[in-house]
Amino acid sequence: MRVLVVGQGAREHAIAWTLRQSPLVKEIYAAPGNAGIAQVADCVNIGVADIIELADFAEKLKIDLTVVGPELPLTLGIVDEFQKRELPIFGPSRLAAELEGSKVFSKEFMRKYNIPTAVATICNSTDEAKAALKKTKYPAVIKVEGLAGGKGVLVAKSAKEADEYLHLIFEDKKFGNAANRILIEEFLEGEEVSFMVITDGKKFAPLAPAKDYKKAFDGDIGPNTGGMGAHSPAVVLNSETATEIVKTIVIPTIHGMAEEGRTYSGCLYVGVMLTDDGPRVLEFNCRFGDPETQVQMLRLENDLADLLLHVTRGNLGEIKLNWKKEAAACVVMAVEGYPDEHLKGQEVAIDPIDDPDVVLFHAGTVKRGGKLLNSAGRVINVCAHAATLSQALAKAYQAVPKIRFEGARYRHDIGYRALEQRKQAVGE
Ligand code: AMP
Repeated sequence: MRVLVVGQGAREHAIAWTLRQSPLVKEIYAAPGNAGIAQVADCVNIGVADIIELADFAEKLKIDLTVVGPELPLTLGIVDEFQKRELPIFGPSRLAAELEGSKVFSKEFMRKYNIPTAVATICNSTDEAKAALKKTKYPAVIKVEGLAGGKGVLVAKSAKEADEYLHLIFEDKKFGNAANRILIEEFLEGEEVSFMVITDGKKFAPLAPAKDYKKAFDGDIGPNTGGMGAHSPAVVLNSETATEIVKTIVIPTIHGMAEEGRTYSGCLYVGVMLTDDGPRVLEFNCRFGDPETQVQMLRLENDLADLLLHVTRGNLGEIKLNWKKEAAACVVMAVEGYPDEHLKGQEVAIDPIDDPDVVLFHAGTVKRGGKLLNSAGRVINVCAHAATLSQALAKAYQAVPKIRFEGARYRHDIGYRALEQRKQAVGE
């Protein structure tokens, strides 16, 4: 079969790399792809938001399965356009993708279906927001409604900080229409985990739990990023808590969305805070995680193409996902300055890595004039799998110096706390 992967990051590289291993898959195309994806797929120069062009391409090449990486095309209705043309595509429809596309919709949805989440007030103006903040303790969380590339959330420590952010939102219009409405939300304390399921709108199958590291710097400090590393298993998530997340969040969400006439098919990603009062939803994403996918794909035993095809046919049935006992780890190499202003066009050198358990997934890379250059803040994901999490982390970190570019920066503590927690759990 012929497959099209939409996207250009390390998540899409991991998806294309995994699809390449399926005996069902003969040809893989990626739009627009990157220099790493080009090793396993034919890259075509169509942007992720060019839905009509993507559908025209899929129609012309008789693509049997399209897999969408990022949220933008999903919220723009790529699935609706493909389905109109009877082209099989994995992902939620535009209405279903509003779970991520509108934090106001998702908050009201959670209220309606009693899905545990932070208490929040929906506000349309600075005055409304200030009034809501007066009733909220600090730290307080301010969230813009729409997509903001992971930058639309502020945990404000003081009224001053909150006021400055409100100014950015309502006066400077930093987020444009994405911030016509905002949420003022109670701050939840606890450990954050990502929980994902694949669903056809009726049945679902959980992906292996993974932990990602969103903050820019060691010790979980600095600004939020698209993700600086990940590992699976997640360690902080025991099976009891996973069962509770399924019962109180996943099942009511899938049922509720169907009841709303927004049947959710695709990967449902729930950002969860494990609070003392139980798991609470921080956010929904309507697609695979990045960088969680990179470690999950290294552990997946099922044939990904077969699995996703079943979902597109509304036929997940009783398929169970099987995961290698091995652990997987991912260290993201970014360029200095990321997630703010950063260099582009730096030459990236990759020395030979003689460990077969190490896999490099490219994020922002392009090939120009025979040279590999960085095209975005996150450049290469150094991933590895091994019998234990500490071995997987060690393998990834050993390979990091093999990737060289000016201003290369990465976190040194991916998995560190998980290993500590595991030691405590077994009484070491
Ligand atoms: P979101 O895009 O809603 O997941 O928010 C991005 C990040 O902000 C999350 O991954 C959390 O680290 C943090 N965050 C969001 N909402 C809250 C909350 N209510 N309490 C504490 N932290 C939060």
